Amino acid sequence: MTRLAIGGFVHETVSFLPSDTTLADFERRAVRGDGIVEAYAGSNTVFGGFLKVCEENDVAVEGLLCTECAPSGPVSKEAFQALADELISRATLWRDEADGLLLHLHGAMVARGDLDPEHTLLVRLRKALGDDYPIALAMDLHGNIGPEKAALADIVCGFRHSPHTDMAETGERTAKLLLGQLAGTVKPVKAMARPGLILPSIFTATAVSPLKEIMEEVRAAADLPGILDVTLFTGFAYADVPEIGATVLAVADGDEALAIRTAERICARLTEAREALYRAAPLYDPMAALDKAAELIAGGCRPVVLLEHADRGNDSTHLLEAMLARDAGRVAMPYLHDPIAAKAAASAGLGAQLMTTLGGKSSEMAGFPLLFSGFVKFTGHLRYRITGPYRTGEEIDLGLSAVIDNGRISVIVTSHSASAVDTDPFTQCGLDIEEFDIIALRSKTHFRAAYEPIAGAILIVETPDWGPADLTELPYRNVPLGIYPITMDDGTETGV
Ligand SMILES: [Zn+2]
Repeated sequence: MTRLAIGGFVHETVSFLPSDTTLADFERRAVRGDGIVEAYAGSNTVFGGFLKVCEENDVAVEGLLCTECAPSGPVSKEAFQALADELISRATLWRDEADGLLLHLHGAMVARGDLDPEHTLLVRLRKALGDDYPIALAMDLHGNIGPEKAALADIVCGFRHSPHTDMAETGERTAKLLLGQLAGTVKPVKAMARPGLILPSIFTATAVSPLKEIMEEVRAAADLPGILDVTLFTGFAYADVPEIGATVLAVADGDEALAIRTAERICARLTEAREALYRAAPLYDPMAALDKAAELIAGGCRPVVLLEHADRGNDSTHLLEAMLARDAGRVAMPYLHDPIAAKAAASAGLGAQLMTTLGGKSSEMAGFPLLFSGFVKFTGHLRYRITGPYRTGEEIDLGLSAVIDNGRISVIVTSHSASAVDTDPFTQCGLDIEEFDIIALRSKTHFRAAYEPIAGAILIVETPDWGPADLTELPYRNVPLGIYPITMDDGTETGV
């Protein structure tokens, strides 16, 4: 009987955030051994996809260590060391029992003192398991995938949709290819091409043109004879690393020249469309967004979704500050990361009036903590299985949470950091989504799966924070010279 080991160590790192992501942050969502089945079977996640293919093919599964954490600051040295050591030692322990390894990495992890810790992890895994040991890698569309990292796995597949509604499907594609390789029915060979392009996350939504059309070509290319898989990694702009930027990676069946041609063809499309990709939709400053929202709401267009997309700590207050000053309608703001406010609301109790500060604690770019006075409409521990189309079925734990409502603005504060991407916050906190004219979110693309069908309009709000659409504002230190839009080949700024 075939047996596969399954592991994962997933993090999208924002280099510019001052706080480290710690071992405790990863431990909160870590599962080991059979725990993987309980946590992920049937879910729309990569691990869910791995498990589905194994079950359908009577493949025994050995869970190693699977852990992930919401996007945040650099992974601490201690966390990376401890989790990498554990993953490698568990994989080594099962090396002779398992026929191969299914591994899930994000592709945009940065650790303190290591700009490419996933490469470090893969080098160490290869050393422990041997050059011939089959390793298949499922990665996030936002991965910064350099050739050295990709070369260390036999198979590399990534998400093709953002919102990542195809996480399980990507896990399935990866697992099926590994089983094909083990059975000798396919011989995966990879090739990659890179256009020298960084895209802000807000414009990596795969239903927004021109990325929409290029992604359709990617999916069509994956169905061509001789091609086993194609991924367009858009990259992650907020990890300040040498491997930053988009990558096209093609996997062909034994035909390396075909893989190269396929990757280069799609890469040329990205280069051709780079200006349009970089500015795919209009941006508003907070006051302009509220003026526009008020106009839309007056015309019966509601709810208006306002995206404070540059927020990378889930606690920015730039938009909230504008909304306190400018009444554009009834507002819901799910979620704002603020454990202190959540605790204050719990202490005050349901129905109590409370004055507290909100947000603005993750970095000096997140805006000031704002004084907010309102009634506690909900207090409790938020822990539930996601019902939205993104990560469906996965459990989310937001810790002690509360709804504080000042009669116009209803803010859901949480103890653990997360972006609201579906309508679960409303049902979980007993709020009626129909009541609201404006829904203020911090998501970049994932909200679209749940909100595009119900939103009257979506307005992108640009604020001075660590995830701006204007990448030329970021204090990069490690990105390669000449990558668009940071500098041109001759070293001049592009002025976009
Ligand atoms: Zn992603």
